[in-house]
Amino acid sequence: MSAFNREQVLSVRHWTDTLFSFTTTRDPGFRFQSGQFAMMGLEVDGRPLLRAYSMASAHYEESLEFFSIKVPDGPLTSRLQLIREGDTILVGRKATGTLIVDNLLPGSRLLLLSTGTGLAPFVSLIKDPEVYERYEDIILVHGCRQVAELAYGEQVVDNLKNDEIFGEMLEGKLVYYPTVTREPFRNRGRITDLISSAKLFDDIGQSPLSIDTDRIMMCGSPAMLEDLKNMFVGLGFDEGNHSEPGHFVIEKAFVER
Ligand SMILES: Cc1cc2nc3c(=O)[nH]c(=O)nc-3n(C[C@H](O)[C@H](O)[C@H](O)COP(=O)(O)OP(=O)(O)OC[C@H]3O[C@@H](n4cnc5c(N)ncnc54)[C@H](O)[C@@H]3O)c2cc1C
Repeated sequence: MSAFNREQVLSVRHWTDTLFSFTTTRDPGFRFQSGQFAMMGLEVDGRPLLRAYSMASAHYEESLEFFSIKVPDGPLTSRLQLIREGDTILVGRKATGTLIVDNLLPGSRLLLLSTGTGLAPFVSLIKDPEVYERYEDIILVHGCRQVAELAYGEQVVDNLKNDEIFGEMLEGKLVYYPTVTREPFRNRGRITDLISSAKLFDDIGQSPLSIDTDRIMMCGSPAMLEDLKNMFVGLGFDEGNHSEPGHFVIEKAFVER
């Protein structure tokens, strides 16, 4: 049996010069937990060209969704950004990843901290009813350089809030906090600064960070993750993994090559 499924592209949307999202068919045998990733890509010259990708769709949805960067000259994304409805992509049969709720100790507030395409696993998680059962408050923070880069996340959250079933479940529970570093916007600054200064919590009118209540998932650039991890470890938070749950879990949104 092949290590991957062939899926058909159902829709593609370009958000900026550097970001796009797309949906595909989903093999009924492909199972994953909210927040996980799989290998995904294209057949190039008869061979699979695959990269790690977070599923942005919920684990129960019939189709798959991905949110992707366009790296100029990137082996995969220079090609992937050209896909159209009806094209075939490859999706690995096995999903994995640390950004799952079982890797966290019990808590009452979940902070989902992302930059760039690091938003993708959290798009899956905020569509999962189990997350709303486990936590009283879910704070989704998305940091980008430019305002236009927030568009996908804004639309996902808007759609969820206006959804007949989800709207009610999210009400008063999901707080979406987009922040921008290189342009004027209502929220400005790096996530590390917004947390260490407590500005994030002031802005949303909630209590400051506390190890008693807060559980954290982070996905972004390696540099952002290192800064955040150092800050949380300095405050006594422990990193969780599959063998031992902790106060926070981390996934790189990409690897520097
Ligand atoms: C666990 C995991 C999950 C991932 N999930 C996603 C996802 O959901 N969406 C996604 O677009 N990418 C994701 N990536 C990155 C992805 O695997 C590829 O790196 C990306 O698709 C670019 O592929 P490429 O072959 O075009 O370029 P590559 O040769 O893979 O990358 C070239 C360079 O581009 C930069 N780069 C790569 N990916 C990104 C990115 N996402 N944001 C900013 N800079 C980047 C890095 O500097 C990298 O060294 C994930 C990576 C990991 C490790």
